[in-house]
Amino acid sequence: MKSYRLVKPYFVERIWMVVAGVLCLMIVDLVQLFIPRIIKQAVDDMTAFRATQQSLLKLSIYILLAALLICVLRYFWRRLLIGTSRRVEEGLRNRLFSHIQTLSAPYFDKTRTGDLMAHATNDIGNVRMATGMGIVAATDAVFLGTAAIGFMCYIDIRLTLYALIPMPLIAFFAKYFSKRMHNRYRLAQGAFADMTEVVRERYAGIRIIKSFNLEKDSEQRMEAVSRRCIRENLLLARITGAFFPLMLLFTNLSLAMVIVFGGRLTILADISPGDFVAFINYLNLMTWPMMALGWVTNLLQRGAASLDRINSILQTQPEINQPENPVLSGPVRGEVQFQEVFYSYGNKEKPVLSRIRFTVKPGETLGIIGPPGSGKTTLLNLLPRLYDVEEGTIRINGTDIREWNLEKLRDEISFVAQEPFLFSGTIRDNIRFGNPDADDASVMEAAKMASFDDAIKALPEGLNTIVGEKGVILSGGQKQRLAIARAFIRNTSVLLLDDPVSQVDMDTGQRIIESIRLFEGRLTVIIVSHRLSALRHADQILVMESGTIKTSGTHDQLMATDEYYARTFRLQEMEEANHAI
Ligand code: ADP
Repeated sequence: MKSYRLVKPYFVERIWMVVAGVLCLMIVDLVQLFIPRIIKQAVDDMTAFRATQQSLLKLSIYILLAALLICVLRYFWRRLLIGTSRRVEEGLRNRLFSHIQTLSAPYFDKTRTGDLMAHATNDIGNVRMATGMGIVAATDAVFLGTAAIGFMCYIDIRLTLYALIPMPLIAFFAKYFSKRMHNRYRLAQGAFADMTEVVRERYAGIRIIKSFNLEKDSEQRMEAVSRRCIRENLLLARITGAFFPLMLLFTNLSLAMVIVFGGRLTILADISPGDFVAFINYLNLMTWPMMALGWVTNLLQRGAASLDRINSILQTQPEINQPENPVLSGPVRGEVQFQEVFYSYGNKEKPVLSRIRFTVKPGETLGIIGPPGSGKTTLLNLLPRLYDVEEGTIRINGTDIREWNLEKLRDEISFVAQEPFLFSGTIRDNIRFGNPDADDASVMEAAKMASFDDAIKALPEGLNTIVGEKGVILSGGQKQRLAIARAFIRNTSVLLLDDPVSQVDMDTGQRIIESIRLFEGRLTVIIVSHRLSALRHADQILVMESGTIKTSGTHDQLMATDEYYARTFRLQEMEEANHAI
């Protein structure tokens, strides 16, 4: 029960609805139990030849009224109790989502997105079932079950004992089968999800499949997953197919006992024929509470296990936190300073960055170059505190970034990541992501600086064009330019660019670099690029190798040596010249 503490607030919030729902459910149970009493009256009246047209009409009206009451109250308990479980689902899901959002990048490195999705669907679904149908089944098992036994004992205690002999079997098998059914159901669901994923992936990659002549391979893959899907569903059907007839068998076993023993009692006039018929009705009413008894324990156990998993995520603290007393700096000038910075993604034996030190003065541009894997992206990620330095200090404006207000720090930094990511929505929404208040003129201005304006104008819907799934598919270079526009539209003092022109042609790249240069003196820019012409004008260039700064200097200073920078620059210059020819 301790696990259920997490859902308590939602129950407290709707306590009256829950109480009213349970009350409706109990009244429905009671009214159901009175129906056999009415039947008994009718049968006894008829067998004693005292039934009249009028007395039977009266009894049938009672039955109709009872049915009407059951109908109305069932509607209400469903709305009230299932509604509450939906509220629990909504509340927990939102809480989980906002909590997971606060966790830091290292957490997402360790956790698979699929696992997080599973918590949001399976676990929350289990909690919903436990807090909705779980309450219904528990109330029915306890209340309807004991009340029915009470009504049966009222007719005859011995007969009740005989009739109840097979009942524990129902509870036992209901528990056993519902557990297996649930497991099978999950496997069938998993197989269906795999099949959908194969279809999605194979259609998304259809061009590659065609160009590699892999249609046959795709067909085989599809056949294999759909065969598994059918097999899992048949195994599920085998269990559900066996379950309900088995339950019926046990109920009929009780019925057989009642016919033998109850029949004898009726002949001996210990009970009336009406009692005999009513008893059989109670027997049928008992089947559900017995099944519920088995089912509810599984529902509650499953709900508790899911709540424990959800709770352990909610207990996970973000590794990167707001400092207790954040420094409220004045206007930010954008001086960036790295002091003996060390970072290793937790594996201290293999540092990804070590002894990194440099200073970029406000308004200056720092260029970074180095072979893939030398730590350039990691270095940029440390500035907005996506990861925290393990040793050393990074300062902006002379203050350790770990002492800054985290939001303010991130507000001061625009970041163009290596892999541009677009959210579903319009081009306008995607650019304005960097500044939700920007008007269309500013959006177009930023797009122009990123050389993306012509591409927007060429689209019939312009800024209203939907990108992503079912929308216009942008090329890699267009996405990159959109991401740059998104950064340009923000009014920050530091601009980080991770290989911003890697996917655009030379001329466009040059235009983008010209735009970046317009920020000179106003913004502190750190730019990583494999295209060295983009770094040429930087005030300082770092050449990185295996996580350390190999050399640094201005373009002219580095060209004076015959090392990596100079060699690469000459090579690229030759390539560009060839390209121009
Ligand atoms: P670059 O940008 O110069 O190509 P990165 O900073 O991306 O280099 O990577 C530097 C090293 O850190 C690589 O060896 C890479 O495998 C490792 N690395 C990058 N990201 C992670 C991560 N999230 N977890 C663990 N190791 C990482």
